[in-house]
Amino acid sequence: MEIEILSLFPEYFRGPFDVSMLKRAIDAGLITIRHTNIRDFAENKHGRVDDRPFGGGPGMLLCPGPVARAIRSVRKPGSRVIYLSPQGRPLTAAKAEALAAQKHLVLLCGHYEGVDQRVLDREVDEEISIGDYVLTNGCAAAIVLIDAMVRFIPGVIGHPEAVHEDSFQEGIFDSPHYTRPENFEGMQVPEILLGGNHAEIEKWRRAEAKKKTRRVRPDLLGEQL
Ligand code: SAM
Repeated sequence: MEIEILSLFPEYFRGPFDVSMLKRAIDAGLITIRHTNIRDFAENKHGRVDDRPFGGGPGMLLCPGPVARAIRSVRKPGSRVIYLSPQGRPLTAAKAEALAAQKHLVLLCGHYEGVDQRVLDREVDEEISIGDYVLTNGCAAAIVLIDAMVRFIPGVIGHPEAVHEDSFQEGIFDSPHYTRPENFEGMQVPEILLGGNHAEIEKWRRAEAKKKTRRVRPDLLGEQL
């Protein structure tokens, strides 16, 4: 999979893509991430890509020209262009898994008060939100989307079955996990996990997962939050 990130701060991404799973996925050639600075598509020598909103209001907007040119510089047949936006459809595990099947993603990160609507209407296939809150820019949202998505690319996670046991895969949370020591500051690992009866362990894990889901996110079970 190839991913193009369009933003004003390519340097923002240095840390997250240089460690752990994402780095391994990149090093193994499972994903390629390229950065485009929208500022490189400014029409003026000062590199200015924002302006005041027509009709008044606070803040600045990214102008349509530089954003359109940045998108067109990387778009190819079959690309999916996504604008990270609080007004998008929510990012879910199912959405992340579906996106993992794409070959070429273009992620547009907004800044300031957002982006001129006309370039969104013309160039963007889909808006995705990482939650019902407003970030200062779309870079963190792009990182979240990529991280959630790459887990579904075959070869990225050492134990691929683990992905399908994680929270949300079956509409509920994952179960609680325990490791050594058996006794931590007087707290004992649940007896059932030490017995080796896999059918019983499975039943217990599912019951615990459901219990927590009902307590914290009853909406996932079709009940009222
Ligand atoms: N005025 C916009 C609104 O209220 O819908 C918010 C603009 S926000 C300050 C600047 C940029 O951050 C947006 O263009 C978008 O790219 C990104 N952003 C903010 N919140 C986000 C969220 N929840 N999910 C994805 N991207 C977000």
